[in-house]
Amino acid sequence: MDLDQQVPKFIFVVGGVMSSVGKGVTSASITAILKTRGYNVTNIKCDMYVNIDAGTMRPTEHGEVFIGEDGIEADQDLGNYERFTGNKMTGANYVTTGQVYQEVIRKERNLEYGGEDVEVVPHVPEEIIRRIMVAQEKAEADITIIEIGGTVGEYQVLLFLEAARIMKVRYPHDVAFVLVSYLPLPAHIGEMKTKPTQYAVRTLNGAGIQANFIIARGPERLDQRRRDKLTEVCNLVEGTVIAAPDCDSIYDVPLLFHEQELDVKLLEILGLELREAHMEPWRDLSSRIKSFDKEIKIAVVGKYFATGAFTLSDSYISVIEAAKHAAWKLGVKPILEWVDSENFEKDPTSIENLSAYDAILVPGGFGSRGIEGIVMAITYAREHKVPYFGLCYGMQLACVEFARNIMGKSTANTIEVDPNTSDPIIILNPNQAKNIREEKYGATMRLGAYDCTLVSGSKSFEAYGIEDISERHRHRYEFNNVYKDAMHAAGLEIVGMNTESDLVEIVELKDHPFFVGVQFHPEFKSRPLSPHPLFLAFVQAGMSS
Ligand code: GLN
Repeated sequence: MDLDQQVPKFIFVVGGVMSSVGKGVTSASITAILKTRGYNVTNIKCDMYVNIDAGTMRPTEHGEVFIGEDGIEADQDLGNYERFTGNKMTGANYVTTGQVYQEVIRKERNLEYGGEDVEVVPHVPEEIIRRIMVAQEKAEADITIIEIGGTVGEYQVLLFLEAARIMKVRYPHDVAFVLVSYLPLPAHIGEMKTKPTQYAVRTLNGAGIQANFIIARGPERLDQRRRDKLTEVCNLVEGTVIAAPDCDSIYDVPLLFHEQELDVKLLEILGLELREAHMEPWRDLSSRIKSFDKEIKIAVVGKYFATGAFTLSDSYISVIEAAKHAAWKLGVKPILEWVDSENFEKDPTSIENLSAYDAILVPGGFGSRGIEGIVMAITYAREHKVPYFGLCYGMQLACVEFARNIMGKSTANTIEVDPNTSDPIIILNPNQAKNIREEKYGATMRLGAYDCTLVSGSKSFEAYGIEDISERHRHRYEFNNVYKDAMHAAGLEIVGMNTESDLVEIVELKDHPFFVGVQFHPEFKSRPLSPHPLFLAFVQAGMSS
Protein backbone atom coordinates (compact mmCIF):
# COMPACT_ATOMS: atom_id res chain seq x y z
CA MET A 1 0.00 0.00 0.00
CA ASP A 2 1.26 3.53 -0.79
CA LEU A 3 2.22 5.54 2.24
CA ASP A 4 0.04 8.58 2.40
CA GLN A 5 0.84 10.93 5.25
CA GLN A 6 -1.46 13.71 4.13
CA VAL A 7 -4.85 12.13 4.61
CA PRO A 8 -6.32 12.14 8.12
CA LYS A 9 -6.89 8.71 9.57
CA PHE A 10 -9.57 7.52 11.98
CA ILE A 11 -9.72 4.69 14.48
CA PHE A 12 -13.06 3.81 16.05
CA VAL A 13 -12.97 2.06 19.41
CA VAL A 14 -16.16 0.21 20.26
CA GLY A 15 -17.16 -2.12 23.08
CA GLY A 16 -18.61 -5.60 23.10
CA VAL A 17 -20.15 -7.92 25.71
CA MET A 18 -20.21 -5.38 28.53
CA SER A 19 -19.13 -1.86 29.27
CA SER A 20 -16.69 -0.54 31.87
CA VAL A 21 -13.95 -2.93 30.81
CA GLY A 22 -11.52 -0.33 29.58
CA LYS A 23 -12.48 1.32 26.29
CA GLY A 24 -11.28 4.66 27.65
CA VAL A 25 -7.91 3.30 28.75
CA THR A 26 -7.64 1.38 25.48
CA SER A 27 -8.31 4.53 23.44
CA ALA A 28 -5.91 6.59 25.54
CA SER A 29 -3.22 3.90 25.34
CA ILE A 30 -3.52 3.61 21.56
CA THR A 31 -3.17 7.38 21.38
CA ALA A 32 -0.09 7.19 23.61
CA ILE A 33 1.70 4.54 21.57
CA LEU A 34 0.98 6.26 18.28
CA LYS A 35 2.09 9.59 19.73
CA THR A 36 5.41 8.13 20.81
CA ARG A 37 5.90 7.26 17.15
CA GLY A 38 5.69 10.91 16.22
CA TYR A 39 2.07 11.17 15.12
CA ASN A 40 -0.30 13.93 16.09
CA VAL A 41 -3.23 12.01 17.56
CA THR A 42 -6.43 13.33 19.07
CA ASN A 43 -9.38 11.68 20.82
CA ILE A 44 -13.13 11.99 20.74
CA LYS A 45 -15.60 10.44 23.13
CA CYS A 46 -19.09 9.80 21.82
CA ASP A 47 -21.60 9.43 24.64
CA MET A 48 -25.01 8.04 23.87
CA TYR A 49 -26.76 10.18 26.48
CA VAL A 50 -29.33 12.80 25.52
CA ASN A 51 -27.67 15.10 28.09
CA ILE A 52 -25.87 17.94 26.31
CA ASP A 53 -22.88 17.44 28.59
CA ALA A 54 -21.91 15.45 31.67
CA GLY A 55 -22.53 18.44 33.97
CA THR A 56 -26.09 17.36 34.60
CA MET A 57 -25.24 13.71 35.19
CA ARG A 58 -24.88 12.23 38.66
CA PRO A 59 -21.20 11.35 39.21
CA THR A 60 -22.12 8.32 41.31
CA GLU A 61 -23.83 6.87 38.27
CA HIS A 62 -21.83 8.24 35.38
CA GLY A 63 -18.46 8.82 37.05
CA GLU A 64 -16.54 12.03 37.50
CA VAL A 65 -17.39 15.12 35.49
CA PHE A 66 -14.13 16.02 33.81
CA ILE A 67 -13.51 19.70 33.10
CA GLY A 68 -11.59 20.92 30.06
CA GLU A 69 -9.69 24.20 29.74
CA ASP A 70 -12.62 25.66 27.82
CA GLY A 71 -15.05 24.64 30.56
CA ILE A 72 -16.54 21.58 28.89
CA GLU A 73 -18.12 19.27 31.45
CA ALA A 74 -17.31 15.92 29.99
CA ASP A 75 -17.18 12.20 30.49
CA GLN A 76 -14.32 10.99 32.67
CA ASP A 77 -12.67 9.32 29.67
CA LEU A 78 -11.46 12.74 28.54
CA GLY A 79 -9.41 12.69 31.73
CA ASN A 80 -7.78 9.46 30.64
CA TYR A 81 -7.03 10.96 27.25
CA GLU A 82 -5.36 13.96 28.87
CA ARG A 83 -3.42 11.90 31.38
CA PHE A 84 -2.11 9.42 28.85
CA THR A 85 -1.33 11.88 26.09
CA GLY A 86 -0.88 15.36 27.53
CA ASN A 87 -3.32 16.64 24.86
CA LYS A 88 -5.80 19.19 26.12
CA MET A 89 -9.38 18.19 25.53
CA THR A 90 -12.13 20.69 24.72
CA GLY A 91 -15.79 20.63 23.77
CA ALA A 92 -14.78 19.44 20.29
CA ASN A 93 -13.58 16.19 21.80
CA TYR A 94 -16.89 15.32 23.42
CA VAL A 95 -20.00 14.40 21.46
CA THR A 96 -23.33 13.39 22.97
CA THR A 97 -26.58 12.35 21.36
CA GLY A 98 -28.08 15.48 22.90
CA GLN A 99 -25.59 17.80 21.17
CA VAL A 100 -26.12 16.03 17.86
CA TYR A 101 -29.91 16.27 17.94
CA GLN A 102 -29.81 19.84 19.24
CA GLU A 103 -27.70 20.89 16.24
CA VAL A 104 -29.82 18.99 13.70
CA ILE A 105 -32.97 20.61 15.08
CA ARG A 106 -31.33 24.04 15.19
CA LYS A 107 -30.37 23.70 11.52
CA GLU A 108 -33.85 22.55 10.61
CA ARG A 109 -35.41 25.56 12.35
CA ASN A 110 -33.02 27.87 10.50
CA LEU A 111 -33.86 26.31 7.14
CA GLU A 112 -30.26 25.18 6.80
CA TYR A 113 -31.40 21.91 5.24
CA GLY A 114 -33.02 23.97 2.45
CA GLY A 115 -36.47 22.40 2.66
CA GLU A 116 -35.31 18.77 2.70
CA ASP A 117 -37.11 16.18 4.82
CA VAL A 118 -34.93 16.04 7.91
CA GLU A 119 -34.55 12.42 8.99
CA VAL A 120 -32.78 10.44 11.67
CA VAL A 121 -30.83 8.79 8.86
CA PRO A 122 -28.86 10.34 7.20
CA HIS A 123 -28.96 13.69 9.02
CA VAL A 124 -28.04 12.45 12.46
CA PRO A 125 -25.01 10.32 11.40
CA GLU A 126 -23.94 13.16 9.10
CA GLU A 127 -23.92 15.54 12.06
CA ILE A 128 -21.83 13.02 14.00
CA ILE A 129 -19.38 12.80 11.09
CA ARG A 130 -19.25 16.61 10.87
CA ARG A 131 -18.29 16.80 14.55
CA ILE A 132 -15.59 14.17 14.12
CA MET A 133 -14.16 16.17 11.22
CA VAL A 134 -14.26 19.42 13.21
CA ALA A 135 -12.29 17.81 16.07
CA GLN A 136 -9.77 16.38 13.60
CA GLU A 137 -9.29 19.74 11.89
CA LYS A 138 -9.05 21.65 15.12
CA ALA A 139 -6.27 19.39 16.36
CA GLU A 140 -4.77 19.05 12.86
CA ALA A 141 -4.59 15.41 13.81
CA ASP A 142 -2.91 12.77 11.68
CA ILE A 143 -4.97 10.19 13.51
CA THR A 144 -8.28 10.70 15.35
CA ILE A 145 -9.41 8.06 17.78
CA ILE A 146 -13.14 7.97 18.33
CA GLU A 147 -14.41 6.02 21.30
CA ILE A 148 -18.07 5.09 21.15
CA GLY A 149 -19.54 4.69 24.63
CA GLY A 150 -21.67 1.70 25.62
CA THR A 151 -21.61 -1.61 23.76
CA VAL A 152 -22.38 -2.59 20.17
CA GLY A 153 -25.71 -4.27 20.86
CA GLU A 154 -27.31 -1.18 22.33
CA TYR A 155 -29.99 0.61 20.40
CA GLN A 156 -28.67 4.00 21.49
CA VAL A 157 -25.27 3.35 19.95
CA LEU A 158 -26.62 2.54 16.49
CA LEU A 159 -26.42 6.04 15.02
CA PHE A 160 -22.81 6.40 16.09
CA LEU A 161 -22.02 3.03 14.48
CA GLU A 162 -23.83 4.15 11.35
CA ALA A 163 -21.64 7.26 11.22
CA ALA A 164 -18.57 5.03 11.58
CA ARG A 165 -19.78 2.69 8.84
CA ILE A 166 -20.37 5.60 6.46
CA MET A 167 -16.88 6.91 7.14
CA LYS A 168 -15.38 3.51 6.30
CA VAL A 169 -17.31 3.44 3.01
CA ARG A 170 -16.12 6.97 2.16
CA TYR A 171 -12.52 6.51 3.24
CA PRO A 172 -11.88 2.75 3.01
CA HIS A 173 -8.12 3.02 3.57
CA ASP A 174 -8.27 5.59 6.32
CA VAL A 175 -10.61 4.06 8.89
CA ALA A 176 -9.91 1.16 11.28
CA PHE A 177 -12.03 -0.50 13.96
CA VAL A 178 -10.98 -1.79 17.34
CA LEU A 179 -13.40 -3.87 19.39
CA VAL A 180 -12.76 -3.98 23.12
CA SER A 181 -14.38 -7.15 24.36
CA TYR A 182 -14.51 -9.07 27.60
CA LEU A 183 -13.68 -12.75 27.92
CA PRO A 184 -15.21 -14.08 31.11
CA LEU A 185 -13.52 -16.80 33.13
CA PRO A 186 -16.31 -18.55 35.04
CA ALA A 187 -14.90 -20.14 38.19
CA HIS A 188 -16.78 -23.42 37.69
CA ILE A 189 -15.39 -23.82 34.17
CA GLY A 190 -11.89 -22.52 34.81
CA GLU A 191 -11.24 -21.29 31.28
CA MET A 192 -11.79 -18.09 29.34
CA LYS A 193 -14.82 -18.13 27.11
CA THR A 194 -14.70 -16.57 23.65
CA LYS A 195 -18.36 -17.01 22.69
CA PRO A 196 -19.65 -13.65 24.01
CA THR A 197 -16.95 -11.92 21.97
CA GLN A 198 -17.91 -13.89 18.87
CA TYR A 199 -21.48 -12.62 19.30
CA ALA A 200 -20.24 -9.06 19.76
CA VAL A 201 -18.29 -9.29 16.50
CA ARG A 202 -21.38 -10.55 14.70
CA THR A 203 -23.50 -7.78 16.17
CA LEU A 204 -20.93 -5.33 14.86
CA ASN A 205 -21.07 -7.09 11.48
CA GLY A 206 -24.83 -6.56 11.59
CA ALA A 207 -24.16 -2.82 11.71
CA GLY A 208 -22.02 -3.23 8.58
CA ILE A 209 -18.69 -3.01 10.39
CA GLN A 210 -15.83 -5.48 10.52
CA ALA A 211 -13.44 -5.13 13.43
CA ASN A 212 -9.76 -4.98 12.49
CA PHE A 213 -8.63 -5.71 16.03
CA ILE A 214 -10.03 -7.31 19.12
CA ILE A 215 -8.70 -6.16 22.46
CA ALA A 216 -9.33 -9.26 24.54
CA ARG A 217 -9.95 -7.99 28.06
CA GLY A 218 -10.17 -10.47 30.85
CA PRO A 219 -8.87 -11.47 34.22
CA GLU A 220 -6.05 -13.40 32.52
CA ARG A 221 -3.95 -13.29 29.41
CA LEU A 222 -5.60 -14.87 26.42
CA ASP A 223 -3.84 -18.04 25.31
CA GLN A 224 -2.79 -18.85 21.75
CA ARG A 225 -5.54 -21.38 21.19
CA ARG A 226 -8.24 -18.85 21.91
CA ARG A 227 -6.48 -16.16 19.92
CA ASP A 228 -6.47 -18.49 16.89
CA LYS A 229 -10.09 -19.34 17.41
CA LEU A 230 -11.19 -15.72 17.64
CA THR A 231 -9.07 -14.81 14.62
CA GLU A 232 -10.76 -17.41 12.49
CA VAL A 233 -14.33 -17.06 13.71
CA CYS A 234 -14.25 -13.25 13.69
CA ASN A 235 -12.71 -12.79 10.21
CA LEU A 236 -9.48 -11.34 11.48
CA VAL A 237 -5.90 -11.63 10.28
CA GLU A 238 -3.21 -13.20 12.39
CA GLY A 239 -1.82 -11.05 15.18
CA THR A 240 -4.82 -8.78 15.51
CA VAL A 241 -6.29 -10.31 18.66
CA ILE A 242 -4.51 -8.41 21.40
CA ALA A 243 -4.40 -9.82 24.92
CA ALA A 244 -5.34 -7.28 27.57
CA PRO A 245 -5.43 -8.97 30.97
CA ASP A 246 -6.07 -6.98 34.14
CA CYS A 247 -2.89 -5.04 34.94
CA ASP A 248 -1.43 -3.72 38.20
CA SER A 249 -1.71 -0.25 36.78
CA ILE A 250 -3.59 1.24 33.85
CA TYR A 251 -0.32 2.92 32.86
CA ASP A 252 1.05 -0.53 31.92
CA VAL A 253 -1.45 -0.78 29.09
CA PRO A 254 0.53 1.27 26.52
CA LEU A 255 3.48 -1.09 27.09
CA LEU A 256 1.21 -4.12 26.83
CA PHE A 257 -0.10 -2.93 23.47
CA HIS A 258 3.33 -1.91 22.23
CA GLU A 259 4.78 -5.35 23.06
CA GLN A 260 2.07 -6.96 20.93
CA GLU A 261 2.81 -4.46 18.13
CA LEU A 262 -0.67 -2.99 18.07
CA ASP A 263 0.92 0.32 17.02
CA VAL A 264 2.84 -1.30 14.15
CA LYS A 265 -0.22 -3.12 12.89
CA LEU A 266 -2.52 -0.11 13.15
CA LEU A 267 -0.09 2.04 11.18
CA GLU A 268 0.16 -0.67 8.55
CA ILE A 269 -3.63 -0.92 8.17
CA LEU A 270 -3.92 2.85 7.91
CA GLY A 271 -1.07 3.06 5.40
CA LEU A 272 1.10 5.21 7.63
CA GLU A 273 4.87 4.94 7.82
CA LEU A 274 6.43 3.18 10.78
CA ARG A 275 8.34 5.80 12.72
CA GLU A 276 10.59 5.06 15.64
CA ALA A 277 8.87 4.43 18.99
CA HIS A 278 9.94 6.14 22.21
CA MET A 279 8.53 4.08 25.01
CA GLU A 280 11.19 4.92 27.64
CA PRO A 281 9.01 7.27 29.73
CA TRP A 282 6.31 4.59 29.93
CA ARG A 283 8.87 1.94 30.89
CA ASP A 284 10.30 4.21 33.58
CA LEU A 285 6.84 4.92 34.96
CA SER A 286 5.89 1.27 34.96
CA SER A 287 8.98 0.23 36.90
CA ARG A 288 8.58 3.15 39.33
CA ILE A 289 5.01 2.08 40.10
CA LYS A 290 6.15 -1.39 41.15
CA SER A 291 8.85 -0.89 43.75
CA PHE A 292 8.27 0.98 47.00
CA ASP A 293 9.94 0.96 50.39
CA LYS A 294 7.46 3.29 52.04
CA GLU A 295 3.79 4.14 51.80
CA ILE A 296 1.64 7.19 52.45
CA LYS A 297 -1.86 6.85 53.85
CA ILE A 298 -4.23 9.58 52.75
CA ALA A 299 -7.74 9.95 54.17
CA VAL A 300 -10.16 11.22 51.55
CA VAL A 301 -12.94 12.68 53.65
CA GLY A 302 -16.35 13.18 52.15
CA LYS A 303 -19.88 11.95 52.16
CA TYR A 304 -20.16 8.28 51.52
CA PHE A 305 -22.48 7.11 48.79
CA ALA A 306 -24.65 4.08 49.41
CA THR A 307 -23.39 2.56 46.17
CA GLY A 308 -20.02 1.90 47.74
CA ALA A 309 -16.35 2.58 47.42
CA PHE A 310 -16.22 1.33 43.83
CA THR A 311 -18.54 4.12 42.72
CA LEU A 312 -16.60 6.65 44.73
CA SER A 313 -13.38 5.78 42.95
CA ASP A 314 -15.05 6.52 39.64
CA SER A 315 -16.57 9.76 40.93
CA TYR A 316 -13.18 11.05 42.05
CA ILE A 317 -10.94 9.38 39.53
CA SER A 318 -8.83 12.46 38.72
CA VAL A 319 -8.20 13.16 42.41
CA ILE A 320 -7.12 9.57 42.98
CA GLU A 321 -4.90 9.56 39.93
CA ALA A 322 -3.32 12.91 40.85
CA ALA A 323 -2.45 11.63 44.34
CA LYS A 324 -0.97 8.48 42.81
CA HIS A 325 1.09 10.41 40.25
CA ALA A 326 2.63 12.53 43.00
CA ALA A 327 3.32 9.57 45.30
CA TRP A 328 4.95 7.56 42.51
CA LYS A 329 7.17 10.48 41.62
CA LEU A 330 8.26 10.71 45.26
CA GLY A 331 8.81 6.95 45.46
CA VAL A 332 6.05 6.11 47.95
CA LYS A 333 3.11 3.79 47.62
CA PRO A 334 -0.15 5.74 47.80
CA ILE A 335 -2.88 4.26 49.99
CA LEU A 336 -6.09 6.25 49.65
CA GLU A 337 -8.98 5.44 51.94
CA TRP A 338 -12.53 6.81 51.91
CA VAL A 339 -13.57 8.23 55.22
CA ASP A 340 -17.28 8.84 55.65
CA SER A 341 -17.71 12.27 57.23
CA GLU A 342 -21.19 11.39 58.49
CA ASN A 343 -19.61 8.94 60.94
CA PHE A 344 -17.92 11.89 62.67
CA GLU A 345 -21.32 13.52 63.04
CA LYS A 346 -22.84 10.37 64.53
CA ASP A 347 -19.91 9.65 66.83
CA PRO A 348 -17.65 12.67 67.39
CA THR A 349 -15.03 10.54 69.19
CA SER A 350 -14.43 8.66 65.93
CA ILE A 351 -12.57 11.73 64.66
CA GLU A 352 -9.55 10.16 66.38
CA ASN A 353 -9.58 7.53 63.62
CA LEU A 354 -7.91 10.20 61.52
CA SER A 355 -4.73 9.67 63.53
CA ALA A 356 -4.11 6.62 61.33
CA TYR A 357 -3.40 8.84 58.33
CA ASP A 358 -0.41 10.82 57.12
CA ALA A 359 -2.51 13.38 55.31
CA ILE A 360 -6.13 14.47 54.83
CA LEU A 361 -7.78 15.48 51.58
CA VAL A 362 -11.27 16.89 51.09
CA PRO A 363 -12.33 16.76 47.44
CA GLY A 364 -15.02 18.76 45.66
CA GLY A 365 -18.68 18.24 46.38
CA PHE A 366 -22.14 19.71 46.58
CA GLY A 367 -25.00 20.00 49.05
CA SER A 368 -25.24 19.82 52.80
CA ARG A 369 -25.10 16.14 53.71
CA GLY A 370 -21.98 15.20 55.68
CA ILE A 371 -20.71 18.79 55.76
CA GLU A 372 -20.46 19.13 59.54
CA GLY A 373 -18.35 15.95 59.63
CA ILE A 374 -16.05 17.41 56.99
CA VAL A 375 -15.66 20.56 59.06
CA MET A 376 -14.71 18.36 62.04
CA ALA A 377 -12.04 16.63 59.96
CA ILE A 378 -10.67 20.03 58.92
CA THR A 379 -10.48 21.11 62.57
CA TYR A 380 -8.58 17.90 63.28
CA ALA A 381 -6.11 18.54 60.44
CA ARG A 382 -5.60 22.15 61.53
CA GLU A 383 -5.12 21.41 65.22
CA HIS A 384 -3.02 18.25 64.84
CA LYS A 385 -0.93 19.80 62.08
CA VAL A 386 -1.77 16.98 59.68
CA PRO A 387 -1.17 18.01 56.05
CA TYR A 388 -4.49 19.12 54.61
CA PHE A 389 -5.45 19.67 51.00
CA GLY A 390 -8.92 21.05 50.25
CA LEU A 391 -10.18 21.05 46.68
CA CYS A 392 -13.00 23.42 45.81
CA TYR A 393 -15.61 22.53 48.47
CA GLY A 394 -12.62 21.45 50.58
CA MET A 395 -11.29 25.02 50.35
CA GLN A 396 -14.65 26.63 51.03
CA LEU A 397 -15.22 24.49 54.10
CA ALA A 398 -11.69 25.19 55.38
CA CYS A 399 -12.65 28.88 55.36
CA VAL A 400 -15.90 28.11 57.17
CA GLU A 401 -14.04 26.05 59.79
CA PHE A 402 -11.51 28.81 60.36
CA ALA A 403 -14.17 31.50 60.67
CA ARG A 404 -16.05 29.43 63.23
CA ASN A 405 -13.19 28.21 65.39
CA ILE A 406 -10.52 30.88 65.10
CA MET A 407 -12.41 34.03 64.23
CA GLY A 408 -15.15 33.27 66.74
CA LYS A 409 -17.99 33.32 64.23
CA SER A 410 -19.67 30.19 65.49
CA THR A 411 -22.53 30.19 62.97
CA ALA A 412 -20.36 30.90 59.93
CA ASN A 413 -21.28 28.84 56.90
CA THR A 414 -21.51 28.65 53.15
CA ILE A 415 -24.89 29.77 51.94
CA GLU A 416 -25.07 26.53 49.99
CA VAL A 417 -25.69 24.86 53.36
CA ASP A 418 -27.30 27.70 55.34
CA PRO A 419 -28.77 30.47 53.16
CA ASN A 420 -29.61 32.54 56.25
CA THR A 421 -26.30 32.34 58.09
CA SER A 422 -25.23 35.51 59.89
CA ASP A 423 -21.69 34.98 58.64
CA PRO A 424 -21.85 33.95 54.99
CA ILE A 425 -18.19 33.09 54.32
CA ILE A 426 -19.01 31.49 50.98
CA ILE A 427 -21.63 33.22 48.83
CA LEU A 428 -23.24 33.35 45.41
CA ASN A 429 -22.47 36.21 43.07
CA PRO A 430 -25.57 37.95 41.62
CA ASN A 431 -25.26 36.14 38.28
CA GLN A 432 -25.19 32.76 39.94
CA ALA A 433 -28.10 33.69 42.19
CA LYS A 434 -30.04 34.54 39.02
CA ASN A 435 -29.12 31.21 37.41
CA ILE A 436 -30.48 29.37 40.41
CA ARG A 437 -33.64 31.51 40.56
CA GLU A 438 -34.29 30.81 36.91
CA GLU A 439 -33.35 27.14 37.29
CA LYS A 440 -30.63 27.44 34.67
CA TYR A 441 -28.36 24.68 35.86
CA GLY A 442 -26.75 23.34 32.68
CA ALA A 443 -23.19 24.64 32.02
CA THR A 444 -23.75 27.75 34.17
CA MET A 445 -21.19 27.22 36.94
CA ARG A 446 -17.83 28.97 36.88
CA LEU A 447 -16.22 26.51 34.50
CA GLY A 448 -12.85 25.97 32.89
CA ALA A 449 -9.45 27.62 33.12
CA TYR A 450 -8.93 30.88 35.00
CA ASP A 451 -5.74 32.71 35.89
CA CYS A 452 -4.49 33.01 39.42
CA THR A 453 -1.71 35.17 40.81
CA LEU A 454 0.26 33.72 43.69
CA VAL A 455 1.77 35.53 46.64
CA SER A 456 5.51 34.93 46.60
CA GLY A 457 6.80 33.14 49.65
CA SER A 458 3.60 31.12 50.04
CA LYS A 459 3.67 27.30 49.96
CA SER A 460 1.71 27.36 46.73
CA PHE A 461 4.21 29.72 45.14
CA GLU A 462 7.06 27.47 46.31
CA ALA A 463 5.30 24.45 44.80
CA TYR A 464 4.57 25.98 41.40
CA GLY A 465 7.78 27.99 41.26
CA ILE A 466 5.99 30.70 39.29
CA GLU A 467 3.71 33.59 40.08
CA ASP A 468 1.06 33.27 37.39
CA ILE A 469 -0.80 30.02 37.07
CA SER A 470 -3.98 28.83 35.43
CA GLU A 471 -6.27 26.12 36.78
CA ARG A 472 -9.65 24.63 35.98
CA HIS A 473 -12.80 25.39 37.90
CA ARG A 474 -16.26 24.01 38.49
CA HIS A 475 -18.21 25.76 41.21
CA ARG A 476 -21.11 28.10 41.76
CA TYR A 477 -20.18 29.60 45.13
CA GLU A 478 -17.27 31.92 45.97
CA PHE A 479 -15.34 33.23 48.92
CA ASN A 480 -16.99 36.34 50.35
CA ASN A 481 -14.41 39.15 50.07
CA VAL A 482 -15.98 40.97 53.02
CA TYR A 483 -14.04 38.50 55.22
CA LYS A 484 -10.83 38.59 53.22
CA ASP A 485 -8.71 40.96 55.30
CA ALA A 486 -9.87 39.68 58.67
CA MET A 487 -9.28 36.07 57.71
CA HIS A 488 -5.86 36.82 56.30
CA ALA A 489 -4.91 38.73 59.43
CA ALA A 490 -6.17 35.91 61.66
CA GLY A 491 -3.87 33.44 59.89
CA LEU A 492 -5.76 31.81 57.03
CA GLU A 493 -3.84 33.67 54.38
CA ILE A 494 -5.14 34.52 50.97
CA VAL A 495 -2.24 33.54 48.73
CA GLY A 496 -3.87 33.17 45.31
CA MET A 497 -6.24 35.62 43.61
CA ASN A 498 -7.93 35.91 40.27
CA THR A 499 -7.20 39.60 39.83
CA GLU A 500 -9.56 40.05 36.90
CA SER A 501 -12.65 39.25 38.97
CA ASP A 502 -11.14 39.79 42.41
CA LEU A 503 -11.84 36.21 43.44
CA VAL A 504 -10.04 34.27 46.16
CA GLU A 505 -8.49 31.14 44.65
CA ILE A 506 -6.08 29.82 47.32
CA VAL A 507 -5.95 29.97 51.10
CA GLU A 508 -3.11 28.71 53.30
CA LEU A 509 -2.82 28.37 57.02
CA LYS A 510 0.16 30.05 58.64
CA ASP A 511 2.29 27.97 60.99
CA HIS A 512 1.16 24.63 59.68
CA PRO A 513 3.25 22.09 57.74
CA PHE A 514 0.76 22.10 54.83
CA PHE A 515 -2.78 23.40 54.95
CA VAL A 516 -3.85 24.53 51.51
CA GLY A 517 -7.32 25.09 50.11
CA VAL A 518 -7.83 25.77 46.42
CA GLN A 519 -11.01 26.98 44.79
CA PHE A 520 -10.02 25.13 41.61
CA HIS A 521 -9.49 21.50 40.67
CA PRO A 522 -5.76 20.89 40.28
CA GLU A 523 -6.40 17.18 39.82
CA PHE A 524 -7.46 17.70 36.21
CA LYS A 525 -4.00 18.83 35.20
CA SER A 526 -1.95 16.10 36.86
CA ARG A 527 -0.19 13.64 34.52
CA PRO A 528 1.50 10.36 35.41
CA LEU A 529 4.65 11.61 33.74
CA SER A 530 4.35 15.10 35.23
CA PRO A 531 2.45 15.23 38.53
CA HIS A 532 0.75 18.39 39.72
CA PRO A 533 3.00 20.65 41.87
CA LEU A 534 0.43 21.06 44.65
CA PHE A 535 -0.21 17.32 44.89
CA LEU A 536 3.56 16.81 45.02
CA ALA A 537 3.89 19.33 47.85
CA PHE A 538 0.94 17.78 49.70
CA VAL A 539 2.30 14.22 49.46
CA GLN A 540 5.78 15.44 50.35
CA ALA A 541 4.35 17.07 53.48
CA GLY A 542 2.48 13.86 54.30
CA MET A 543 5.71 11.88 54.02
CA SER A 544 7.41 14.03 56.59
CA SER A 545 4.49 14.23 59.01
N1 GLN B 1 -20.51 23.16 46.01
C1 GLN B 1 -19.48 24.12 45.83
C2 GLN B 1 -19.82 25.18 44.80
O1 GLN B 1 -20.67 24.97 43.98
C3 GLN B 1 -18.17 23.45 45.50
C4 GLN B 1 -18.16 22.80 44.17
C5 GLN B 1 -17.06 21.80 44.01
O2 GLN B 1 -16.49 21.34 44.99
N2 GLN B 1 -16.77 21.41 42.77
O3 GLN B 1 -19.23 26.23 44.79
